[in-house]
Amino acid sequence: MNRQPQQTRLTPHYDVLIIGGGINGCGIARDAVGRGYSVCLCEAGDFGGGTSSASTKLVHGGLRYLEHYEFLLVRKALMEREVLWNMAPHIIWPMRFVLPHHAGLRPAWLLRLGLFLYDHIGGRKLLPPTSSVNLNRDEVGKPLKPVFRKAFEYSDCWVEDSRLVVLNALDAAERGASMRPRTRVARAQRANGQWQVEIEDTLSGHRQTVTAGIIVNAAGPWVDQVLQQVFGHNDARNVRLVRGSHVVISRKFDHDKAYIFQNDDNRIIFAIPYEGNYTLIGTTDAEHGDDMDKPEISAQEIEYLCATASEYFAEPVTTSDVVWTYSGVRPLYDDGASKAQEATRDYVVRSDGDSGGALLLNIFGGKITTFRVLAEEILKDIETALGTRQPAWTAHAVLPGGDFPVDGFDALVNDCANARPNLDRDLIARLVRLYGTRAEKVLGDAREPADLGRAFGGGLYEAEVIYLMRHEWARTAQDILFRRTKLGIAYDGKQIEALQDFMDRAAKTMHTMTNEAALH
Ligand SMILES: Cc1cc2nc3c(=O)[nH]c(=O)nc-3n(C[C@H](O)[C@H](O)[C@H](O)COP(=O)(O)OP(=O)(O)OC[C@H]3O[C@@H](n4cnc5c(N)ncnc54)[C@H](O)[C@@H]3O)c2cc1C
Repeated sequence: MNRQPQQTRLTPHYDVLIIGGGINGCGIARDAVGRGYSVCLCEAGDFGGGTSSASTKLVHGGLRYLEHYEFLLVRKALMEREVLWNMAPHIIWPMRFVLPHHAGLRPAWLLRLGLFLYDHIGGRKLLPPTSSVNLNRDEVGKPLKPVFRKAFEYSDCWVEDSRLVVLNALDAAERGASMRPRTRVARAQRANGQWQVEIEDTLSGHRQTVTAGIIVNAAGPWVDQVLQQVFGHNDARNVRLVRGSHVVISRKFDHDKAYIFQNDDNRIIFAIPYEGNYTLIGTTDAEHGDDMDKPEISAQEIEYLCATASEYFAEPVTTSDVVWTYSGVRPLYDDGASKAQEATRDYVVRSDGDSGGALLLNIFGGKITTFRVLAEEILKDIETALGTRQPAWTAHAVLPGGDFPVDGFDALVNDCANARPNLDRDLIARLVRLYGTRAEKVLGDAREPADLGRAFGGGLYEAEVIYLMRHEWARTAQDILFRRTKLGIAYDGKQIEALQDFMDRAAKTMHTMTNEAALH
């Protein structure tokens, strides 16, 4: 079995070429290369630079989808919670969600029924079950208005979304896939039973042709645009683009549980402990135009989120509390639902072409939570077209740095810190959260603060920057400050510039995972 692309002079050939390095594309690349197919993935920007870094960051079944009778989706997603937690316990961990009962909105019996289903249809083994909470007595009641006296508490998981993407990309690359960030797929056409694909390095403008047996269009909200511009399907209109935005405010409460608040428009929003010092509040559902370049929160969305949170918190949330915002666009399969929040959150796969050669698989929609099962479904189509090579494998295979027990985080921090008593323990804990057992690799031989090199602010040192450039394709300050880490929230313009300047100079002198390095 050969995972390497077959070279026909200057035209590399791959079994599978994937368009899009979000969670779905990277998950498929990892699964496919691990089953023995040669794989190339092209991402126009940075891995996770699209919707996959702008989510609410929950590995969840989606309690609210029960109301839309999406039982199969909820079950499929719930089943994934513990699978994913085991795969990457450094970036995925359990979280309790407090759902206050609001007189006048959903009755308590309905909440109890929904949570009973949620507890029982999804293969929950390790996560604690739902419980009732007396908000007058429990600490989770303290930040809320006294009118809220009763709540329910249930389990889901938190995920560092953009790190989940890059860890899938990293694992795929380490297994032999050609993972190419900053590489746009420009054109694709069928010729002699295979695809001829023109790809462009977006930094140098260099164009190259590769061939592939199968193309997977995992371009998320750009899926229709890719169909139109890359494949010439001018009338492609399969997804609704629905923007979701979040605001970040200073920490609103001290405990580590999240809140789920019902609003009188039938929607819900979350208020979640975030990055130690903050609370994350989201999300919205706003119809988005075709301008996919930089989705941004509107003034109405900010007001909506502040007003909904203020309905519950004793101290209101005002627009002046907002320190950072981000927005992403959901590529929801257009199933004809009239309201954005009613459109299905499940993915739909549509193939184009016969399985004899040059198959195109298009992915519409999908959730971070279901990326692994989506990859398994795509692999079934790949196997039908190219023949089975190795069985499904991802359910029990850890991601880079995740090779420790789900309850082993503190022990890992202790080991790492005990070996380096002169380094700041909070720094080590932060690195273990992001890199798991690979924090050792980030820290290397460093024993004293000076060994970590230049400090850029917020605990970011040269050692981590160099690691991210060498091993995780980081090329810009934004890659590091907002996707590999979230340290950028507290950075000012000057600090960002200084980091970018350092990275530009470092890129010239060191061997990084540049596009050229990825070319076979
Ligand atoms: C506000 C919000 C909250 C959400 N919350 C959750 C949540 O809590 N839990 C959950 O499970 N899911 C959540 N989701 C859903 C989830 O984030 C998305 O479904 C998922 O990230 C989509 O991933 P993707 O890989 O399909 O798309 P993307 O991450 O957008 O990736 C597509 C990539 O394709 C690239 N691309 C486009 N055109 C080309 C081209 N021509 N050549 C090369 N590359 C190209 C883009 O640059 C982009 O990086 C949320 C979504 C939103 C918007």
